[in-house]
Amino acid sequence: MIEPTRSTIIGRGAEDGRRLFDTWFDELTSTSDQKRQAAYVFVMGSLTEVLRAFDMPVVFPEINSLQTAVKKAAAEYLNEAEDHGFSPDVCGYVKADYALQLRGGEHPRGRIPPPAVAVLTNACNTYLKWAEIWERLYGTPVITIDVPGSRSGARPERAAVRGFARDRRYVEQQLRELIVQLEGITGRRFDVDRLRETMEHTNAMGRAYRAVLAENRDTPAVFDAVLEGTTYLGVANALRGSAAGTAYFTDLLEEMRLRRTLGLGPVGRPPAEKHRLIFVGVPCYPIFSRFTRLFSDWGGIFVSSTYLWFASGGLNLDYEYDLADPIASLAEGLLLGVRSAVDSMLFHDRTLVRAIDEYGADGVVYHPVKSCRTVSTGLADSRRSVLAQRDVLALYIESDIMDQRVVSEAQLKNRIDAFFEGLDSRKLRAAAAPAVTV
Ligand code: SF4
Repeated sequence: MIEPTRSTIIGRGAEDGRRLFDTWFDELTSTSDQKRQAAYVFVMGSLTEVLRAFDMPVVFPEINSLQTAVKKAAAEYLNEAEDHGFSPDVCGYVKADYALQLRGGEHPRGRIPPPAVAVLTNACNTYLKWAEIWERLYGTPVITIDVPGSRSGARPERAAVRGFARDRRYVEQQLRELIVQLEGITGRRFDVDRLRETMEHTNAMGRAYRAVLAENRDTPAVFDAVLEGTTYLGVANALRGSAAGTAYFTDLLEEMRLRRTLGLGPVGRPPAEKHRLIFVGVPCYPIFSRFTRLFSDWGGIFVSSTYLWFASGGLNLDYEYDLADPIASLAEGLLLGVRSAVDSMLFHDRTLVRAIDEYGADGVVYHPVKSCRTVSTGLADSRRSVLAQRDVLALYIESDIMDQRVVSEAQLKNRIDAFFEGLDSRKLRAAAAPAVTV
């Protein structure tokens, strides 16, 4: 009796992801309509658990902006911001959000409420300048948590590194100040048990999230880390610390395991995997599905993606909150998560070499984008370092996450086709080579 199970479970992750996102945007629209308070946060170090403990709806401006690109509306928002003096070089996410604020929150998927407070970290320097825009527009209080970096690429075992306990206490003190400020802004008393509840949801979500990512270590992959992984990542951020988010990832893991049992691959179809790839960076949202098809048409499957690591708020790390000491533990999780995100961007080579081994990848696709220097800086050096350490092919293609003016589809296709011809011919040569016996 496998068929009834299959028909209700396969495809559920995509379907539920769409539904949850619709509901999320509907809730933001009604928050806006009712002129209720909302908190603005960013994916790297969102601290959603604390904000949920105050029952504050959270707005992720990065997600709103990328959704304007997915919905093919980014150009109007970018143009409007540039008409107000923003340079074409500024991060496209910032410009789309600025235009959205000028339009009173109007968004292709609903209406976004203005920020009653912005809570951010120093994970990306653009976050700091971005929040200053809300300060200027609305007088929004901006609370920045300063998370000390790892000061070197010497991973891992941060807890054992000298100074870790001091850094954790430094972050914890800032979180305690954040809580006092949120009490003042919301007029509500902080409830530590409510915080524990949200952290428990994050723990459960993180376990399932990591298990989903690990499913692709086996061959063939059961999901595409760019085509499908991007939806999973969106849900992980938007619904972090909630029962709905935990249920989503529990169900998603069930679907991935069923795909494995049934011998199904990405999007629940029979696997067509010829090449196992790792994606580095953020996808090309203006042509998202066509972009992924440029790879899947050649049998190229993204078995993993650095995006699912650095933008997951630390869910990719084997770390769980200690609910007996929630604020200290939240500080530790934030410290580890933000450091890991920054290291995943600045020291990609180490993370990538490990991932190539774990996922059995034969190719790495680097996608630097004009909008984001934070994730694009150093990619060329990383490629050199990875190629010196592992015998894989690497592709380096440039476009953007928001701005279709710098996306040349024909040029991308040309480079991608050549990359796959190289991968195919490597495999043919390897298959034809006589076996070496020692
Ligand atoms: S510069 Fe990059 S990491 Fe920073 S906000 Fe823009 S897209 Fe995000």
